[in-house]
Amino acid sequence: MQRGADGATRLNCSANIMVLMPVGTPPAPRAACSRTGPARRVDAVFFDVDFTLIHPGSAFDGEGYRAFAARHGLRVDASRFEHAVREASVELERLQDGVYRPEPFLRYVSRVLTRMGAVGDGIEGCALEIYDEWALCHHFALYDDVSPTLAALHAAGYRIGLISNTHRCLDSFQSHFALEPFITAAVSSSDHGYLKPHPSIFRAALERVGISAEGGVMVGDSMTHDIAGARRVGMAAVLLARSGEAPETADGVPVIRSLAELPDLLAGTNGRSRSR
Ligand SMILES: [Mg+2]
Repeated sequence: MQRGADGATRLNCSANIMVLMPVGTPPAPRAACSRTGPARRVDAVFFDVDFTLIHPGSAFDGEGYRAFAARHGLRVDASRFEHAVREASVELERLQDGVYRPEPFLRYVSRVLTRMGAVGDGIEGCALEIYDEWALCHHFALYDDVSPTLAALHAAGYRIGLISNTHRCLDSFQSHFALEPFITAAVSSSDHGYLKPHPSIFRAALERVGISAEGGVMVGDSMTHDIAGARRVGMAAVLLARSGEAPETADGVPVIRSLAELPDLLAGTNGRSRSR
C-alpha cells in the first residue's frame, strides 16, 4: 500500500503561524505573540506513523508487488505501479463513516494489482497477503530524523503519543524501532474502531495521554486525516511535508520539511533548541 493523495502541501498559504510552547517554559516574547497570533501551551505531541515516522521498503514498490503477484499466479507490470496507486487511491477516500474495517484497504490493493495488469482468481488472496504484510515492521524503515526528534521532545518534557490509521500492532512498532522510552500512549484505528479524521480516535489518544485537546499538537503528513481531524477536536497541528515545495503554512497550519524542525517550532525559539 501507499498513501492516498491528500494534497498535503497544496493548500492556500497563510501568515497565521501559531506559537507553541512546552509545559514549564516561559511565554514567548510579547512581540512574537502579537505578530503570529495567540500562543498555545503544549503538553503533548502526537504523531501519525506511516510516512511521518516510517516509510515502506522494497516489498511495497512495483517490483515488490510483482513478487507478491507471482506467488499467487498473477502477472503484473511493475512499471505501472505508481500510476496504479494513484488510480486506486479513490478507494481510500471512500472511508466516509470513519469506521475501521479491512475491506476498503483490500479493495484498494486489489485495484492496484488490477491496474498493474493482474487477471484471475489469485487477486483476492494476493491482496490479503499484501494487507497482512503491511502490518509487519520489518518491511519498513524509520526516517533518520525520528529518534533524535522524539528524544529531544521527551527530554524537553513533552508527552508523546501515536495516532495511526493502521492494523499494525503499535506495541510491536515501538519495540521494533526502539521508541518505547519516548512514547506515553498509542492508538491504532484497528484497535480503537475509528479512523482518522474521526474525532473519536483523537479524543481516545488525548484521554490516554491525560491531557485536554488544547494541550495537544498533532504532527502528520496528511492534511485530510491528521491535520483536519486534529483541528476538529481543538488540537493544534503541524503538517509534515517531507518532499516537494512546502509553503510556510498551509491553511493556517505550520509546515515543516523535517521532524528536526519540530523542537524549535514548539519552543518558539526561532532556531535555538530548548531543553530542561
Ligand atoms: Mg501518514
